[in-house]
Amino acid sequence: MSFDPALVRKDFPIFQTTMRGKPLTYLDTAASAQKPQAVIDAISRFYANDYANIHRGVYELSATATRLHEQAREKVRAFLGAAESREIIFVRNATEAINLVAWTYGRSQVNEGDEVVVTALEHHANLVPWQMLCKEKNATLRIAPVDASGTLDLEAFAGLLGDRTRIVACTHVSNAIGTHVPVEEITRLAHAKGIPVLIDGAQAAPRFVVDVQAIDADFYAFSGHKLYGPTGIGAVYVRGEILDEMPPYQTGGGMIERVTFEETTFAPPPERFEAGTPDIAGAIGLGAAIDYLEAIGLDRIERHEAELLAYGTECLEAIPEVRIIGTAARKTGVLSFVVDGVHPHDVGTILDGEGVAVRAGHHCAQPLMNLFQVPATARASLGIYNDREDIDRLAAALHKCVELFH
Ligand code: PMP
Repeated sequence: MSFDPALVRKDFPIFQTTMRGKPLTYLDTAASAQKPQAVIDAISRFYANDYANIHRGVYELSATATRLHEQAREKVRAFLGAAESREIIFVRNATEAINLVAWTYGRSQVNEGDEVVVTALEHHANLVPWQMLCKEKNATLRIAPVDASGTLDLEAFAGLLGDRTRIVACTHVSNAIGTHVPVEEITRLAHAKGIPVLIDGAQAAPRFVVDVQAIDADFYAFSGHKLYGPTGIGAVYVRGEILDEMPPYQTGGGMIERVTFEETTFAPPPERFEAGTPDIAGAIGLGAAIDYLEAIGLDRIERHEAELLAYGTECLEAIPEVRIIGTAARKTGVLSFVVDGVHPHDVGTILDGEGVAVRAGHHCAQPLMNLFQVPATARASLGIYNDREDIDRLAAALHKCVELFH
C-alpha cells in the first residue's frame, strides 16, 4: 500500500496551526516528534477514566491502571522483538536508559585498567555516562573512529576490542549526521570476544523495524517522545541473563521484596529497576504511539523516509553554498548541513521566518562536530508527516538565506 503523508498529517493536531502565517514545515523530528491525536486521547482517557496508582492497590481502578501499564510494557516488548516483557524496563528517556546500564551493569563490571568502547558518532547521552564511569573506575574510554563521510571504521572498531574491554556502547543511527551503523556487525565482533553491547536506538526505533534478538543486542535504549509518544517515558531492553545479575539502580518503593530496618531484598526485574511511582500515563501513551506506528507499518515508514532523504539530499546538493555534513552511504532520517558564510543559528532563524523548523547547534555531539571542524550545523530531520513539499520549502528558504548573505 502506498504511503500518504498528507493523510498522516491529519492525525496530528499541530499541523492545523500556522507558523508566522505559513503552514508549519516541521523538520525537527530527531529532536522530538509531534504527537498524533491517538496518543493524546490515550493519555487523557487514562486520566479521565482509569487513573490510579499501580501495583499496590487492591481495588478495581488500581487493577485496571496496572493492567494498562503492563499492556504497554508488552507492546514495547513486541515492538522491539524481545523474548520476555520482564526484559523491558521503563525509564524517563534514552538518557536515563543509558545511565541505568552504566551505573548498574557498568559499575559492577568495569574495574581499574578495564576499557569501554564507544564510537565517535555518539550523542552525549551515550558518551558522558561512560566517560564518568571510566573516571570513577580508573578505566579507559576508547573511541572507534569514523571516516570523512561519517561512516564508522569497522576495522578500527574491531581493533579496539581487547581482553580488558568490558562493554561496547554504540548508536544505531547518529542524530547529528544520520549515519546508520551496522549494529549486527558490531554485536557479532564484540560477542566473538565475549563483550556485551548497548545500542542507543533513540533515532532508530521511530524509523524502521528493530529486532533486538536479530541484532543480538544486550541492551537497547530509546525515548518515547521521539517515537511520536509522550515526553517523560522511554525504555531499555536488557537481555534476560544479564538482567538477573544486574544490581538495582534507584532504590525505594516499588522495587523491593522485603524490607527490615537492617536489610532489603529486591523485587525481580523489571520492578527491581523501577523505583517509585512511574510515569503510568506516559507508558500508556507510548503504547498508543506504538499501536499507531504499527498500524502504518514501520517498513513503509522506512521506505518513505529513505525516499525523502534521497530527495532532500539532491535538493541540498543543488545549492552550491550548502555543504552536507555526513555523507555515509547508509543514512537514516537526518540531513545536517552548513551554509557558506552563514552561522547555523542564523540559518535556523531565517528558516524559522519561512515557517521551516530545523535545529541549529552541536546536536549534543560536540566531539563529532570537532572532527568535522564545524562548531555547529543546521539539521533537518524527517518524520512520518513530512513530504516533498516540506523539502521544497526548506530548499526555497535556503535560497533566500543564501541571497540575504551573499
Ligand atoms: N541518543 C540519541 C542518538 C539521540 O538522538 C538522543 C536525543 N537527541 C538521545 C540519545 C537522548 O535522548 P533523550 O534526550 O530523549 O534522553
